[in-house]
Amino acid sequence: MPHLSRVENPRWLKRLSHRSSPDRVVNVCFCVVLLFSTLLTWREVVVLEDAYISSQRNSLENVTHEFNNQLQVSIERLIFYRNGMQAALERPLAFDVLHNAGEEFERKRTQHQWSILLDNQRTLPVHGVSDAFVDDTTILSRDSLLLGNELTATLEVGYLLRLSTTLKGDSQQMLYVSRAGFFIASNPTMLSNDVVGQYYALVTSPWFVDQSERTNPNRGIRWVSWMLDTPEGPKRRIAVSLPVDYQHYWHGVLAIDFSLAQMKHLLSTAMQGEKEGEYRLYDRQMNLLASSLSVEATPQPLSNSEKAQLARALEYDNHGGMRFATRYVNWEKMRNFDGVLVRIHPLNEGIRGDFGTISVALSLVWALFTTMLIISWVVIRRMVRNMSTLQSSLQWQAWHDGLTRLYNRSTLFDLAAKAARECELHGESLSVIQLDLDYFKGINDRFGHQAGDRVLSHVSSTIVSQIRKDDLAGRVGGEEFCLVMPGASRKDACAMAERIRAKINNREMLIGKGTTLRISASFGVSSSDEKGIYDIEHLQSVADGRLYLAKQNGRNQVCCQGGASQ
Ligand code: GH3
Ligand code: MG
Ligand code: MG
Repeated sequence: MPHLSRVENPRWLKRLSHRSSPDRVVNVCFCVVLLFSTLLTWREVVVLEDAYISSQRNSLENVTHEFNNQLQVSIERLIFYRNGMQAALERPLAFDVLHNAGEEFERKRTQHQWSILLDNQRTLPVHGVSDAFVDDTTILSRDSLLLGNELTATLEVGYLLRLSTTLKGDSQQMLYVSRAGFFIASNPTMLSNDVVGQYYALVTSPWFVDQSERTNPNRGIRWVSWMLDTPEGPKRRIAVSLPVDYQHYWHGVLAIDFSLAQMKHLLSTAMQGEKEGEYRLYDRQMNLLASSLSVEATPQPLSNSEKAQLARALEYDNHGGMRFATRYVNWEKMRNFDGVLVRIHPLNEGIRGDFGTISVALSLVWALFTTMLIISWVVIRRMVRNMSTLQSSLQWQAWHDGLTRLYNRSTLFDLAAKAARECELHGESLSVIQLDLDYFKGINDRFGHQAGDRVLSHVSSTIVSQIRKDDLAGRVGGEEFCLVMPGASRKDACAMAERIRAKINNREMLIGKGTTLRISASFGVSSSDEKGIYDIEHLQSVADGRLYLAKQNGRNQVCCQGGASQ
C-alpha cells in the first residue's frame, strides 16, 4: 500500500523535512553549543596560558636585570683597576716607599719565593717567585722594560683593592697576577706559605691562560667557570678577568674570583624577595652554578636530555620558555655573564597560583556545563522522539481506518483526486472499483458484531494482498470499499475485481469455534477509458451504480458496464 506521509508537499520540501528531522536538529544544535563552549573555554585557557607565560617572563626579566646589575659592579671595578694600573704604568708615583719596594724586589727576585710588605694595614703584600721559575714557564716573562713600574703600579692597585674589599672568607677574592712572577690577592685567608704553589695555581688557571693575546684578541672581560683543586677536593669557582696591557705588552691579569656561595648570594639579592619559582644560574656548559633554593633543599637536576634541549634553544635565541614533563622552564641569557639564568616553575605550584586556580575553575565550569548540556540533550532528544512518535501515530490515525488499516474515506478521495490529475496529465487510464459485502447485516446478526469486524479485516487484507504498489484502497462505508487504480484500463480493473471477488469467495473463513463461513462481495467497476472523464466523484458514482446492478443481478459478481454511464 502506498505511504501517505506528506504527499501534499513537493519533493524538495520532502527532502528538506527529512534532513531536518527534529532529532537531527536537536543533535546539531547541541553539537554546535558544545563545540562553541569548548572553543571558548579553550580560547580562555590559551589566553590564560599566554598571560602565565608572560608573567613568568616578566619575573625572569626582572631578576636577570638585577643580576646583571650586580655583575656589572664587578666588571666596572675591574675596568677601574685596569685603568688605575695603566695610569700607574704610564706615570708611576715617585714615593720613597715605592722606590724602596723596587729595591727590595731587586734583592729578592732570585729567591725561590718572596713577599714584599710595605704597610700591612694599607696595601696588600706582593708575593713572588724566582727569576728561574719565570724563565722556566712559557707564558711568563720578566723582560719588560716597565717591570719596575709594574711593581709600583701593583702596589698602588693593592691600596685600592684593600679599600674596596668588603667580603671576608673565600666567597670573593680580587687578584692581580703578573706575568713577571708576582701577584697580589685581596683575601689573606687564601694565602698559605707556599707562594710558589699558589702562583703556579693562579697562572695555570683558565681565567689567566685565557687572557693571552692569542686567546683573547679583543682584550675584553672574560667569565670562566672551572674546577679548583683544594685540600677538601675539587671546588667549582667562577672568575671574571680582564687583561692588563700597556704599550702592546701583556703585563698580567686582574680578576675577581667568586665562590658558588657568593653567586648564590648575588642571585638571592637579585631576586629581591621573589618567592615563586626557582632560579638557577648555569654556565655555558650547563653546569649548575647557583640555585635560589635554600641550602637544605637540593634542586631537582635537569636531565641530560632537558639540558641538551635547553642548550640547543640557547644557540638560537637569547630568551625563551619550554615545558619539561612537570615543570615550566623560562630562560634568559645573561648580558654580563657567560651563562644563562633559568626560572623553573613546577606545574603543581603553577596550579596553586592565580593562573592555575582560574584555569582549574574554568575547566570545572566547562565540565559542569558540558555535563548539564549532555543531560539536557538526552532528555530533550527523548522528548522529541516521543513527540514525533506521537505525531506520526496521530497522523496515521487521522488518515486511516483503525479496523481495516486502509485509508479512510476523505483521505482516499484526496489521494485519488491527485492520482486522477497525474493520470490525466500523462494520458494514462484511471479505474475505480467499488465493492460491497453481500448480506453482511446477516453475518452481524447471526455471529455478532465482533465476527463482522473480523470479516471486514479479513476482506481488507485480501484486497491489500491483490492490489499493485500504486493502487489506493480505502474503506468508504460500513462494509463498502473503494479501490482507485492509476494506469489501469477498464479491462485491467475488471480482471482485478474478478480476482479479488474470487479470492474472497473461494475460501471458507473461520468465524467462531468450529464455525466457518463463506462470504462474497459484489463489485462495480468504472474507468476513465469510457468517456475520458477523470473526475473521481463521477467515476466513483458510476462504479457505485454498477455495484447496485451487480447486487440486483444476484450478488457475488463483478459489473463492468451499464448503469448511469451508458
Ligand atoms: P447487501 O447484500 O444488500 O449489501 O446486504 P447487507 O446486509 O450487506 O446490506 P446493509 O447495507 O443493509 O448492511 C450493512 C450492515 O453493515 C449494517 C451494519 O450493521 C453493518 N456494519 C456497518 N459498519 C460495521 C462495522 O464497522 N462493523 C460491523 N460488524 N458491522 C458493520
Ligand atoms: Mg452489503
Ligand atoms: Mg452496504
